[in-house]
Amino acid sequence: MEAGKAAAIIADNWRQVQQRVTEAAERSDRNPAGVHIIGVTKYVDASVAQHLVNAGCKRLGENRPQMLWQKAEALASHSDIQWHVIGHLQTNKLRRTMKLRPLIHSIDSERLLRAVEEEAAKQEQVAEVLLEVNISGDENKTGLMPDALTSLLETEHANVRIRGLMAMAGLGTDAAEAGNQFDEVRVLRDRLQQETGNPLPELSMGMTADFPEAIAAGATMVRIGSALFDGVR
Ligand SMILES: *Cc1c(COP(=O)(O)O)cnc(C)c1O
Repeated sequence: MEAGKAAAIIADNWRQVQQRVTEAAERSDRNPAGVHIIGVTKYVDASVAQHLVNAGCKRLGENRPQMLWQKAEALASHSDIQWHVIGHLQTNKLRRTMKLRPLIHSIDSERLLRAVEEEAAKQEQVAEVLLEVNISGDENKTGLMPDALTSLLETEHANVRIRGLMAMAGLGTDAAEAGNQFDEVRVLRDRLQQETGNPLPELSMGMTADFPEAIAAGATMVRIGSALFDGVR
């Protein structure tokens, strides 16, 4: 596709998604400024992702570290991009990933959190992370079980700041049921805050199919891919 046409389609998608986020926030009596859109660029290459940045989306998410590195390099002239790691992160990918100072949404094990802590110390930074919750309670799914969350939050983490929780609705869940799962995440967050005294302001939940429900449930970050690249991929 011709670049100008792709740019126009993406700019239009971006406006529509922002509009839908604003409407969802207002329906729930929430301030739209309290809901950030993470543009998930995993479906497209850097040249297409750049149209989204030019349209005004400065928070970008990738689920694979190599793709994140590639795009960060290609888009290095945009110093205002904030990167978000939203997929499973292997410890051998930490060094290079953390140099980009991303928000890591997908801390799914105690082992990974410890490795992030060590790498953050080496790089003399304070890493910002979210804990990924397994809301379905299914042992085979990724994410931490609620009990594990309590113990992680009760431990001191020198070079890591845990900012909140991330969750995904189970595969094949319809939007209404996803909304119920997101409500459970918010309730869990409230309980964890109270029990551990650890502030957890961020809730990363909701994707193209279920972000209005996630916003109604209290999401502060929605991770949106398909709706932004509709018509160009
Ligand atoms: C791909 C992906 C998204 C975006 O999904 P869409 O349905 O395309 O909006 C959000 N979160 C995670 C973890 C993903 O892997």
